Amino acid sequence: MELDDHAEALASDLGVDKEEVKSDLRNLVEYSVPIDEAKQSLRRKYGDGSGGGGGGPSAKDIADITPEDGNVTVTGVVLTAGKRSIRYQGDDHVIVEGRLADETGVIDYTAWEDFGLEPGDAVTAGNAGVREWDGEPELNLGESTSLSFEEESPELPAEFADEIGGDADLAALQTGDRAVNVEVAVLECERRTIDGRDGETEILSGVFGDESGRLPFTNWDPAPEIEDGGPVRIENAYVQEFRGVPEVNVSAFSTVTELDREIDVGADTTTMAVGEAVRTGGIYDVELVGNVIAVRDGSGLIQRCPECYRVIQKGQCRTHGDVNGIDDLRVKAILDDGTGTVTVVLDDELTADVYGGTLEDALEQAREAMDQEVVAETIRDRIVGREYRVRGHLSVDEYGANVDAETFAESDDDPETRARAFLEGVTA
Ligand SMILES: [Zn+2]
Repeated sequence: MELDDHAEALASDLGVDKEEVKSDLRNLVEYSVPIDEAKQSLRRKYGDGSGGGGGGPSAKDIADITPEDGNVTVTGVVLTAGKRSIRYQGDDHVIVEGRLADETGVIDYTAWEDFGLEPGDAVTAGNAGVREWDGEPELNLGESTSLSFEEESPELPAEFADEIGGDADLAALQTGDRAVNVEVAVLECERRTIDGRDGETEILSGVFGDESGRLPFTNWDPAPEIEDGGPVRIENAYVQEFRGVPEVNVSAFSTVTELDREIDVGADTTTMAVGEAVRTGGIYDVELVGNVIAVRDGSGLIQRCPECYRVIQKGQCRTHGDVNGIDDLRVKAILDDGTGTVTVVLDDELTADVYGGTLEDALEQAREAMDQEVVAETIRDRIVGREYRVRGHLSVDEYGANVDAETFAESDDDPETRARAFLEGVTA
């Protein structure tokens, strides 16, 4: 039988347009799908009740799936597959999460059963549930899903094929990413005790870096390779938002191995307009340029509670009452670039730089003036009205937009050049 004849027979069987069936059939055959299988899948696509499937969901291209689809049948290639434990309705479940791609698109999936999915597998998920997550469709592979492994793999566009396995740069990671692999240096790491959902537990938290950038991490099941300082390769990590910033999560299901190459942590960061940076809701590493328009109260020479290290007023900690405060230096400066403002917080070292003296000098100046406010006044005189370039960690929360500065230097930019570059950025 010729393709034409197959198409005609099938079209009359299904009561649909012959040309449409023929073109679908030709596509499938071109992808080396055997003719009988191709006809079978078209019967499913056009909803043939007599096919034995009792009218199961139709086959869909990934790009065509919408959150309104109840159930679909999808054929694609597993790009990533990572196990994770979640608590659902009071019980712990081990689920597998990742991404599935075909010629047309990519979709996130969650598998509630262990189907043995591995990156690179070509699969057909029959009767997969579709749910909405953050406005996007996602696949739920569960009990009622029939999953079969395919011999032939759909041909993926290069941008999807590159994702097979899940290797990623830190700069490319986004909140919600699952089953990613990174190769990173451990820039900071501390062991902490937290109140977990099952009582007190020890975790590691800190900062990873690679050639592309830096991100904070939490390691829920402390890995010695990370605590030893790395560099490490981590497989099957996931990314969650924490305090407005994407954070790499390394779980008990992640694999951590020591890496025998050095990681050259990139020195570059993104420079953004203040307003734009604040609208992102928080960035781990960003550079802002603007004018210091004010130095806020609580700057200069300050005292901290010896128990909780928070700043105290007149020897009174809000939590610990009357305490013997520890002297420290800090600046909270308001930076404005015309698009928005942030409060830049300088630690003791950066404050000493802008003050032009040490903590001892500040104490001396305060004693002589019999007023510790003179230290803040000196700093005000030095920095207000000047333009600074600040790099650090921007958080945006109920305390406002704050940058924990890592560097804070007077800007040597020609303001005109910067204004032009900024305008180009806005109109681009
Ligand atoms: Zn306290």
